[in-house]
Amino acid sequence: MLKLKEKGGVERLLIFKKFMNIQKNFPLASFTTFNIGGPASFFCEVSDESELIEALDYVEKNNLKVFVLGGGSNVLFNDDGFDGMVIKLKDTNFLKIEKVGSDILVNCWAGERLGNIVNFCAKNSLTGLEWAVGIPGSLSGAIRGNAGAYGYDMKSVVEKVKAFGYFCKDNSSVNESENDRCNLEHLKNKNEKKFILFSNKECDFSYRFSIFKKYKNLVIVSAFLKLKKGDRNQIKNQMEEIIKKRREKLPKEKSAGSFFENPKVEKKEIILRFEKDSGKKCHNQRIPAGWLIEEVGLRGKKIGRAKISEEHANFLVNSGGATAKDVIMLSSFVKMKVRNEFGIQLKEEVQYVGF
Ligand SMILES: Cc1cc2nc3c(=O)[nH]c(=O)nc-3n(C[C@H](O)[C@H](O)[C@H](O)COP(=O)(O)OP(=O)(O)OC[C@H]3O[C@@H](n4cnc5c(N)ncnc54)[C@H](O)[C@@H]3O)c2cc1C
Repeated sequence: MLKLKEKGGVERLLIFKKFMNIQKNFPLASFTTFNIGGPASFFCEVSDESELIEALDYVEKNNLKVFVLGGGSNVLFNDDGFDGMVIKLKDTNFLKIEKVGSDILVNCWAGERLGNIVNFCAKNSLTGLEWAVGIPGSLSGAIRGNAGAYGYDMKSVVEKVKAFGYFCKDNSSVNESENDRCNLEHLKNKNEKKFILFSNKECDFSYRFSIFKKYKNLVIVSAFLKLKKGDRNQIKNQMEEIIKKRREKLPKEKSAGSFFENPKVEKKEIILRFEKDSGKKCHNQRIPAGWLIEEVGLRGKKIGRAKISEEHANFLVNSGGATAKDVIMLSSFVKMKVRNEFGIQLKEEVQYVGF
């Protein structure tokens, strides 16, 4: 690796005869759907495994903290930014169909936009991912958080995931606060650098959870999705229906999607109250966080320029010029009200970065 310094806060690394720009003091807000946050001390975009490894080597040699960014649709960056390297996975259009026996697998680079993959599947008459139409962000962000909609989630389509395990500066690389749900042999030496293949089962998917949330030193690099041959018109019609529903239901303002996870509720009386009020059945004891927020009367509540959406109470939106501080204050207020009234502790689905 040859390092060439340049003016304007841009450092260029010569890698395998290609240049990768490492930018300093790089503004992050426009790389998020919230459009909030300060700069990253270091920033680079990678489009394949070799570039990712070089970027991580740079991180290690310079003793930096690291944050891997997909589509930025589930993050809130601090107003002061991130003091470390943000590695953004670029959307490269790497999608390849492979037939294994009667299965049809689509091999995708992790930085690929989920929307592109959904369209690619529809174009090739592959069914199984229609539910994901309209979910912003990258494939890797969706796998890490087991993104889902309309009763389906990534668990239902992932065949296997390839990830890279790397050196991690802060020793919180393993999220000890999560239950120790997985004890895979190949993760025992947590700082060893290597590619690891995870089967669907090893991904340990559950509601908005996967093993990649627990082990922060794993970067998802690609995945095989398992789909079935279907009827192209039927697939397209289903996608159009979902797009229509999402347009009617979801706010247009800038946000990071559902802000809180839907909590698991023990108290029967709350479940019954929800079912009676909404006319909907409660699944797996999970109550929509948006319903709880409405019940405590916070629809439309504003702190600074952050607001609880009028259309969907689990969306905290940037009504124009909101700061991360505004969002955090609003989120804390919501948590306090719901806790006081229902005895339920809401947990953010959105990832806070740089706090
Ligand atoms: C309008 C709107 C609607 C939404 N609707 C839905 C919905 O219906 N269902 C749903 O589930 N979500 C929804 N979301 C939330 C969001 O789109 C999903 O969570 C999405 O999957 C996040 O992907 P991303 O690439 O943007 O992740 P990012 O926001 O970039 O990152 C999220 C987390 O994933 C980590 N990450 C990203 N790439 C990697 C990688 N390669 N390796 C390891 N970690 C990585 C990041 O470090 C971060 O911790 C919505 C969001 C918006 C703004």
